[in-house]
Amino acid sequence: EQDQARCWHPFTRQAEWCARGHEPLVITRGEGSWLWDSEGRKYLDGNSSIWTNIHGHAHPAINAAILEQLGKISHSSFLGFTHPLAAELATRLCAFFPENTLERVFFSDDGSTAVECALKMAVQYRMQTGAPDRNQFVAFSNGYHGDTLGAASLGGVGRFFERFRNTGYRVRHVATLDELRALSPEEIAGVVIEPLIQGVNEMRPWRGGMLAELREWCDETGVHLILDEVMTGFGRTGRMFACQHEEVIPDFLCLAKGLTGGYLPMAATLTTGKIYDAFLGDAEKAFYYGHSYTANPLGCAAALASLDVFETEKTLARLPEKISRLSSRLATLKSRHPVIHEIRQCGFIAGIELRRPDGEKFPLGERFGEAICQAARAHGLLTRPILDTIVLMPPLRTSLEEIDSAIAALDSSLP
Ligand code: PMP
Repeated sequence: EQDQARCWHPFTRQAEWCARGHEPLVITRGEGSWLWDSEGRKYLDGNSSIWTNIHGHAHPAINAAILEQLGKISHSSFLGFTHPLAAELATRLCAFFPENTLERVFFSDDGSTAVECALKMAVQYRMQTGAPDRNQFVAFSNGYHGDTLGAASLGGVGRFFERFRNTGYRVRHVATLDELRALSPEEIAGVVIEPLIQGVNEMRPWRGGMLAELREWCDETGVHLILDEVMTGFGRTGRMFACQHEEVIPDFLCLAKGLTGGYLPMAATLTTGKIYDAFLGDAEKAFYYGHSYTANPLGCAAALASLDVFETEKTLARLPEKISRLSSRLATLKSRHPVIHEIRQCGFIAGIELRRPDGEKFPLGERFGEAICQAARAHGLLTRPILDTIVLMPPLRTSLEEIDSAIAALDSSLP
């Protein structure tokens, strides 16, 4: 226990957790959509760990690919060196998009750095193409794009970002497309958005068509469109990437989490040939962003194996049935529990917002959502609330019966 106390957990309320008997669960094993704790209890992983493990845990094909790579080389520098897996992965990622669109891939470490790279590239691109004043960004209210300073300056969820306002990029926040259209684009390098649905904003989907309209505005104004698909990428919304629902191709696409199937930390920022070309020529134009672990071979091996699993298991073709099972079960759940104010679903992502009987939100200090998740844990479902919205985002491989068991656990946990 003393050793555990040495870990500085994110969102630390450790003393408080322990006082209330909510100490962090010690997870020791995972298989498929299930996790086991140190006492041997089994739980359905209702959040794919942290929206990462799209194919679940200990997938034999992904494990084997990592092990095989481990026997060859686990890490080598990508600075002045290369390796075959990175090249193959870059090509396979670009192949999801029409030719001559997203053509170049920059590898980094996690979702925050995928976004950070896009921001730096967007600013440096303007410097090198005669528009150095275009160095601001627009982001959407209540968005979440990561924890590094650049990514945090885009963030709109107060508890994460308020303290760091004005320390990173100059960012204007807008709530709607109309607010965006009212801005003068002259100083704006790029607009950043989580396409289709804002995750940390309690799973709030955008209205259909919004993304395509945003692309149009970017085309008219010359502002780069930066899509943060760290959460939505790799099948979550029912398509491989959320932008494909509206046939939108961004100028920068940020990927992480599910990229390696969640097995290893790794990220990718995809961009166009035109943008890439502005970084060529002489050393001064290069992109000076040199991670130690960029294009880590183990991460690449896991990512390639994960893409193979999509093909061999027909993951996307099997999803519609699961998505509709989830929505019908959630509808029944809502009809049985008046505490459910609203269900927000986007593909295999669901947010279940809980409110008081009079329709008002619960007082923050009450941590109602957290109490429900604690109860669900006792019924064998691991999930987490964002305020009082319970999030369900199980691995894409979760079976119909497993979906039913997650809903049954919530049914037993809700008043
Ligand atoms: N963007 C989005 C949309 C995210 O959901 C997250 C993580 N929740 C991030 C960026 C940051 O990713 P990471 O935690 O891997 O840095």
